[in-house]
Amino acid sequence: MGEWTAMTGRNPSAGNPSGDPWETVGDRFVTFTRLHADGVLPEVPCEACGYPTLPAAGRNHICVVCHWRDDGSSRDRPDVRSMENQGLTLRQAAAHITETGVFASQWHALVAPEYFVPDVKAARAELMRAYDGLGRTPLDAAVRADVQSRKTTFMYTIVHLMR
Ligand SMILES: [Zn+2]
Repeated sequence: MGEWTAMTGRNPSAGNPSGDPWETVGDRFVTFTRLHADGVLPEVPCEACGYPTLPAAGRNHICVVCHWRDDGSSRDRPDVRSMENQGLTLRQAAAHITETGVFASQWHALVAPEYFVPDVKAARAELMRAYDGLGRTPLDAAVRADVQSRKTTFMYTIVHLMR
């Protein structure tokens, strides 16, 4: 995040002056829902982070970015607790994602420490940036390739740590 800010001189949440995590995720969710509906992207967005990581909605897939399990929780019911996701609500998840990229709070580091080590956090930040680029220019082949490559790097970084 710091590097990105230094590079552009802009706050990463500049598109969302309020800085409210719920709104930030909402903006992404709307963007990627539209791109899916228009047939531009095959994936549907994650309800928790808003990035297009899921092959289908509500099928218990786990988001590759934020690790939320897509249990049918929906943004129209932001304060319903999800038992599949540490008993957290989507609104709480959005706050955590804005802070760390992961849907769960920092205590989750005890359960899944690999999600919070610096290399993984850095790789996740790169993947999120790539997805942000995809939201801006979804038809750009280089941007699409960047998402794939960042996704592979991110997953490899996690798996490598778990060995
Ligand atoms: Zn997610």
